[in-house]
Amino acid sequence: MALINCPECDTSISDKAPSCPKCGVVLIKKDPDRRNKTQNMGCLIVVIGMVVMGVTPLPSVGAFVFGLGFLVLIVGLIIY
Ligand SMILES: [Zn+2]
Repeated sequence: MALINCPECDTSISDKAPSCPKCGVVLIKKDPDRRNKTQNMGCLIVVIGMVVMGVTPLPSVGAFVFGLGFLVLIVGLIIY
């Protein structure tokens, strides 16, 4: 558990605290796992797309899944 300084009153507070116990300011934290989760999901769909392309008699279906996964990956990289 680390201590951070409140952006409003500069009090040392826990980085796990949802709000400052002194001035009550809500600490909006970015979820550090969010970016990785989205990118991992994109990677996973890309892999699934490649597998589907390898096993399906309809390569266009695999290409579609691959494209979808690639799109998710790019969106994950840009938005977060
Ligand atoms: Zn404060």
